[in-house]
Amino acid sequence: MQSNRIPFLDLVSPHQELKEELVGVFSHALETAGFIGGPMVEDFEKSFAKFCDAQHCVGVGSGTDALRFVLMAAGVGPDDAVITVPNTFIATTEAISQCGALPRFVDVDEQTYNMDVKKLAEYLALHCSQNDANGKLVDKQTGRAIKAIVPVHLYGQMADMDVILELAEKYHLMVIEDACQAHGAEYFSRRENSWRKAGSMGLAAAFSFYPGKNLGACGEAGAVTTHDDRLAQKVRTLRDHGQAKKYYHDMEGYNGRLDSIQAGILRVKLRRLAEWNERRRECASRYAELFAAASEFMKVPFEPSWSRAVFHLYVIQVQNREQLQKHLGDAGIGTGIHYPVPLHLQNAYKNLGYRAGDFPVAETAAAHIVSLPMFPGLTRAHQESVAQQVLESVRAKNNVNSQPLADCGSLVSSARM
Ligand SMILES: *Cc1c(COP(=O)(O)O)cnc(C)c1O
Repeated sequence: MQSNRIPFLDLVSPHQELKEELVGVFSHALETAGFIGGPMVEDFEKSFAKFCDAQHCVGVGSGTDALRFVLMAAGVGPDDAVITVPNTFIATTEAISQCGALPRFVDVDEQTYNMDVKKLAEYLALHCSQNDANGKLVDKQTGRAIKAIVPVHLYGQMADMDVILELAEKYHLMVIEDACQAHGAEYFSRRENSWRKAGSMGLAAAFSFYPGKNLGACGEAGAVTTHDDRLAQKVRTLRDHGQAKKYYHDMEGYNGRLDSIQAGILRVKLRRLAEWNERRRECASRYAELFAAASEFMKVPFEPSWSRAVFHLYVIQVQNREQLQKHLGDAGIGTGIHYPVPLHLQNAYKNLGYRAGDFPVAETAAAHIVSLPMFPGLTRAHQESVAQQVLESVRAKNNVNSQPLADCGSLVSSARM
């Protein structure tokens, strides 16, 4: 059984392959006692900025720190509101709240699970108004000034950035990318007639190097990328207790630095990232072929022509997710759900005043999505076994999954809790 298991994610093999180099990083840190800051951090920051086509990269303690510091550095604070999506990891909204601001949600697109730009336009036009006194755009319901939009490049695919940037310009809002799942993802900008990397399009972006991300540390790590010199400097100060010089504090900051050993490890792994992303893309197209004949029973990831996704996750939608997960689990195949409860329905956010039914697309997705095994070392044989089990389950006569997806009129209501 053990040997036939197909894990959801393999974090062992890539580190085995690179073991000598990774141990070398640790030895170097021991020999030089360079544990915090120093050349390994600077070297990684330069390389990652280059990888993202960004002017600056500032290494921090986690993706959550990256989001929090960048919002603070951009001037988001109490009395403000920040627009994001409900189907993301809670770190996105924790960062907003921890700046003192209020998260406001817009629903996502059915095909891509990313921010629905039509609904964003609608929210800005209908649910916000210009304050006569100061010209600020205010959320009518809460009276909070909208400061920024945080699109999340979910599952490794970028949100429709051209439209988001155009709306942001129109309403004078900042755009901060949550690129925590999208290292290396690309977007074809019609405005600029060129492919652009995640982390290079907004005012700034946040990346996470949590071990399971496309580029993962062997511990906690994150980074901010930006073209803006002052913003980069401010994040550098915030991550290090507000000090520009040791023990001279211009403001209060945080202990949010990227440590040298993690930076060294990330530098080694960054050399492989493009190749690993390419393998994820190959795995995604192989899954697409294997599932092509069952499209009535399941929804597979959609990649618009303007997107080159890096498939942090491979997420499908089926009628009865629990049944499928059990079937795959019995066959020794690991799965995940990203994420089972949209943020507006989490206990932590009861205070935001949202209700079930407010974001039907995100709610339906949350009730029906399953993430299948996806990692660079996934083999054709693995994928064939996964596909065989998935197809067996969704086509089974006694399975609710064998109802065509399109007939699921109950999808929305069953998502309401
Ligand atoms: C992982 C993740 C984060 C948080 O990153 P950490 O490094 O775990 O703090 C934020 N947003 C999204 C979308 C993520 O996937």
